[in-house]
Amino acid sequence: MNGDIRYSIVVPVYNEEAVIDQTYQRLKRVMDSTEESYELIFVNDGSCDHTTARIKGFGDQDDAVKLITFSRNFGHQIAITAGMDYASGAAVVVIDADLQDPPELIPEMIAKWKEGYFVVYAKRTKRKGETFFKKYTARLFYRILSISTDLQIPTDTGDFRLLDHRVCEEMKRLPEKNRYVRGLVSWVGFQQTAVEYERDERFAGETKYPLKKMIKLSLDGLTSFSSKPLKMANYAGAFLIFSGLIYLAVLLHLKISTTSVNAGWNLVMAMQLLLTGILLTMMGIIGEYIGRIYDETRDRPLYIVSECYGLMKKERNVKKVV
Ligand code: UDP
Ligand code: MG
Repeated sequence: MNGDIRYSIVVPVYNEEAVIDQTYQRLKRVMDSTEESYELIFVNDGSCDHTTARIKGFGDQDDAVKLITFSRNFGHQIAITAGMDYASGAAVVVIDADLQDPPELIPEMIAKWKEGYFVVYAKRTKRKGETFFKKYTARLFYRILSISTDLQIPTDTGDFRLLDHRVCEEMKRLPEKNRYVRGLVSWVGFQQTAVEYERDERFAGETKYPLKKMIKLSLDGLTSFSSKPLKMANYAGAFLIFSGLIYLAVLLHLKISTTSVNAGWNLVMAMQLLLTGILLTMMGIIGEYIGRIYDETRDRPLYIVSECYGLMKKERNVKKVV
């Protein structure tokens, strides 16, 4: 660790030209007010607009600005991971570029860190300007996740948080590819606390998290921290065999005791659909896990950096167990 820098602010950016100027200004104002040294690490996750040029423009006048550019879009969670890998501050703050997470909350996080907490996460009490669908599905997801896992992962919390550099060091030991960073931070442990805030609307531009990416993130969260969905197949299977046996027994009984059995074509059809549906779902769940096992065994690097600005390029420092 470079002892000179006190705070590293990690900002993942993907096509954020509409908001990046404002983000930089607000971050700079807040960080200057701490009167301590800091660096702003922008991780450009394969943007194809003018985001990169804008950030380099800030860097021309400000040594605190650093930029890591990926060779393509690797995803938000990987961008955060790269930022944490490159951060050299004593504390690292991860914040979205779209100003939904107010930079003005950072001093409050720093105060908690100075009290001795290793992780200070920002808990949303309200989410403004997001669709009913997004709010509702996010809520539901956090609830399902907390029922499914024994690990305490705080609900209604995004990746906006402060981490002590020791937590970042430990995070580097986690080589998994399908990363659910907020879960990993909980897994690492140490003294953690929350500060509350109201999540603002996106300042400008559109969400870079379409439904597909949201589903991927929630499945990563679930499959990384719980194998309950996989085990559900056993319970559902047992339940089906049991119901099937009862069903057969009833049919047999009717056949013996009455002359006509009207099992009904409709009933057969409905059962067929139901059973196939359940089977396919279960196979799907197994597929999700197997897909992830496959990802892990391939052992590809997490990301590829095509350009560094204000920083030295380095290999991800994963401590391998052989
Ligand atoms: N982001 C990223 N790579 C992606 C998608 C998003 O680096 O593939 C960044 C994005 O620029 C923003 C943050 O991740 O800084 C959160 O994305 P967004 O605000 O679009 O998500 P939402 O708030 O709508 O869930
Ligand atoms: Mg956002």
